[in-house]
Amino acid sequence: MVGAGLSGAVIGRHLAEAGHSITVMDSRPHIGGNCHTERDADTGVMVHLYGPHIFHTDDEEVWSYVNRFATFRPYKNQVKTTTRGAVYSLPINLHTINQFFGQTLRPEEARRFIEAKADTTITDPRTFEEQALRFVGRDLYEAFFKGYTIKQWGCAPSELPASILKRLPVRFNYDDNYFFHRFQGMPEEGYTRMIERILDHPNITVHLETPVTRDMAARHDRVFYAGPIDGWFDYSLGRLGYRTLDFERFSHQGDWQGCAVMNYGDVEVPWTRITEHKHFAPWESHEGSVLYREHSRACEPGDIPYYPIRQVAEKTLLARYVDLARTEANVTFVGRLGTYRYLDMDVTIREALDCAAIYLDSLDGRKPMPAFTVNPL
Ligand SMILES: Cc1cc2nc3c(=O)[nH]c(=O)nc-3n(C[C@H](O)[C@H](O)[C@H](O)COP(=O)(O)OP(=O)(O)OC[C@H]3O[C@@H](n4cnc5c(N)ncnc54)[C@H](O)[C@@H]3O)c2cc1C
Repeated sequence: MVGAGLSGAVIGRHLAEAGHSITVMDSRPHIGGNCHTERDADTGVMVHLYGPHIFHTDDEEVWSYVNRFATFRPYKNQVKTTTRGAVYSLPINLHTINQFFGQTLRPEEARRFIEAKADTTITDPRTFEEQALRFVGRDLYEAFFKGYTIKQWGCAPSELPASILKRLPVRFNYDDNYFFHRFQGMPEEGYTRMIERILDHPNITVHLETPVTRDMAARHDRVFYAGPIDGWFDYSLGRLGYRTLDFERFSHQGDWQGCAVMNYGDVEVPWTRITEHKHFAPWESHEGSVLYREHSRACEPGDIPYYPIRQVAEKTLLARYVDLARTEANVTFVGRLGTYRYLDMDVTIREALDCAAIYLDSLDGRKPMPAFTVNPL
């Protein structure tokens, strides 16, 4: 397994339980991949080192899988946003609408009110901007989507595809739970402890600070690679575009912002959001506090790739890497970097379990193990 994140750990565990001998290697000095959590030595706060992670899923099998390795505490993600000098509730809900427009509308009134604001001259929205204008109209779009999106993606929303904003991003009730999924929660002892337990099997050996290169693949029967697909080929065809994040970490005595996530919608504010990590563990109590100001920018060589851009140019390049990957003798590309897709943790686990099952089936020799068990294109 190249990568000791969720992909490598889950596939590794599944195959270890089937009797295989698994070597997990990661270039970082810790397991957990981007889900890595560790306690801050000064405050005792559980910090999500690569940005906050909230577990949410509708997949019962995945939910029972994670509960096998961790005790999950209830956690509801209630995001706020500061925009134009006021604080609002996200996702845009009845409270946001009433506060923003100075109204006291009930659900059906609000629905009609927003419909009247929507730009109905846009019949076939092609860009993010058109989609937002079509759904919610200019006022809400400019206050809640425009500035944040420019900062997050580094380009105008009129240059982004409409598909980013898939469905109506507004609720006509007071539900401010960010996620729709039935199962949501936080592992009581953090994600790294959970992944440590997944990796804790007599057939699994973990090597940290061990970068894996393509020439090492021949030493193993099969390689499951959760690193960047372009990196496997030494970027020979060029680099796939990503956004990276800079976390400006600071501490505070007491409660800095009163919530876990505060977005900043104004384009003049350089960060996209501030996260206060102790609020991700509301069952704990800490006097000190650790916070991250999050800045998004283009990923350069040496940066951590966070969000795949996946626009037309990137997908064309991805297709060429996929062709190359399919010629590899014994490598399967997995996870968010191996398939160049944004994947939530539950989807990562689902795909990892399926991938391991496909591999076990392939061992009877009837079907060869493919380079991808999901189509990355
Ligand atoms: C900012 C951010 C916030 C997120 N928040 C959420 C959330 O709230 N909820 C949610 O469900 N999901 C969230 N996610 C998604 C979550 O992080 C992923 O689903 C998960 O990390 C994917 O696991 P993975 O194992 O595929 O990849 P990773 O976690 O990236 O692990 C890959 C590992 O491979 C290692 N590696 C790479 N190349 C090599 C190499 N050549 N040799 C050795 N090791 C190598 C890396 O060091 C890394 O540890 C978030 C993602 C980001 C970027």
